Amino acid sequence: MIVVMRAGAEKAEVDAVCSLIRAEGLEAFVSEGQERVIIGVVGIDIDRVAHVGTMPGVEQAIRVTSPHKLASLEHQRDRTRITVKGIPIGAGAPLVVMAGPCSVESPEMLFETANLVKREGGHVLRGGAYKPRTSPYAFQGLGEDGLKLLAEARAQTGLPIVSEMTDASQMEAFEEYVDIIQIGSRNMHNFTLLRAAGQGRTPVLLKRGFGATIDEWLMAAEYVLSAGNANVILCERGIRTFERATRNTLDLSAVPVLREMTHLPVVVDPSHGTGKRSLVASMSLGAAAVGADGVIIEVHPDPPHAWSDGDQSLSFPEFAALMDELRRSEYLRRGDSGRPRTVSVPATVGDMRERIDTIDSHLLGLVDERAQLALGIARAKGTDDHGHDAAREHSLLERARATQGAVLDGEELEQVMSAVLRASRQMQRRHAAEQRDSVRTPA
Ligand code: PEP
Ligand code: MN
Repeated sequence: MIVVMRAGAEKAEVDAVCSLIRAEGLEAFVSEGQERVIIGVVGIDIDRVAHVGTMPGVEQAIRVTSPHKLASLEHQRDRTRITVKGIPIGAGAPLVVMAGPCSVESPEMLFETANLVKREGGHVLRGGAYKPRTSPYAFQGLGEDGLKLLAEARAQTGLPIVSEMTDASQMEAFEEYVDIIQIGSRNMHNFTLLRAAGQGRTPVLLKRGFGATIDEWLMAAEYVLSAGNANVILCERGIRTFERATRNTLDLSAVPVLREMTHLPVVVDPSHGTGKRSLVASMSLGAAAVGADGVIIEVHPDPPHAWSDGDQSLSFPEFAALMDELRRSEYLRRGDSGRPRTVSVPATVGDMRERIDTIDSHLLGLVDERAQLALGIARAKGTDDHGHDAAREHSLLERARATQGAVLDGEELEQVMSAVLRASRQMQRRHAAEQRDSVRTPA
């Protein structure tokens, strides 16, 4: 800390400040300038003299080290990676998708949603059993019965569970039934709850208070960390501003800001962040693009009839389309993209056509990307022919034949691969010919 004295401060005032600092076991280094005195304060527990700025003769006291002792990069340079049931979160691991309903309403809707999340490649199932609602008359959640249903959904799908804890007395049940304890936006300042979550080892998803600065949010994380639980994931879920076009203002800049301040993983919640279904996909892609370690998304089998947050919940086809988009942008784990997947077929022909059009344009783009790489190989090998490698083509065709898709069989997939290879060969011949021509007739 640096204490700046007022111009013309009395020597007695400077001495009083230095005595206070030393009495608290810290060191004070006085430097006398032409106009004013500056005192450097050094020591571990700077907070003991936090009030020095109000002493007579002091103009201001400036903190130079981070007050977030355990959360800060000063404390730990290596980014934290938290592994939940084998799923790595943070420190450069692929984007983690947590998804599920706002509230657990019934076994049927929960299991249906859990199976969809699993099928589409989501990693963690969300669902609220205790709902902190703005109105005491709104649905408050199924409580412990909801937690039991979540645990049953986990048993069916293998997906770990994230759910919100609203009171310290629920800790035992949460340790039994969930894999990540969510602390909600409204409870970010509930220090008793934070300490309780800090007493266990279950990872904590700490949502940003909608009126909290990033500093206050990190101090809340500090409560969990200092109580002994190092497994904290931060979740940006939007803050309240003057803007009314969205339910909250999703502060995506918090992601890179936090990267410069903390080693903890950061997840983004575009559902509460926007409050509007139509904005969730673009803000999820935005979150991934700015480096979020994960997204948490509300999905419901019948959003217009959801008991809470229906306006911001994605339908099943919308969630499937978002997962496709994240996969195409390579934000998801690479291994996920090659695996044959069962997609949820939209209800109307119009929606089906729209998804097919999107897939076709991705498909053509991918084939072109593949062709550029094939050309790169031919150039690296320095071949002047079209450079195709018959043995490798043969093994690619065999691999396609051995693949069983959800609806296409091996023979049909081999035909697709064969068409891709044919087009690629033709392109390489054309480039090789152009190359030879340009050598013969130099410009
Ligand atoms: C929720 O995740 O359903 C929720 C209530 O979120 P928040 O605490 O961010 O409002
Ligand atoms: Mn919600």
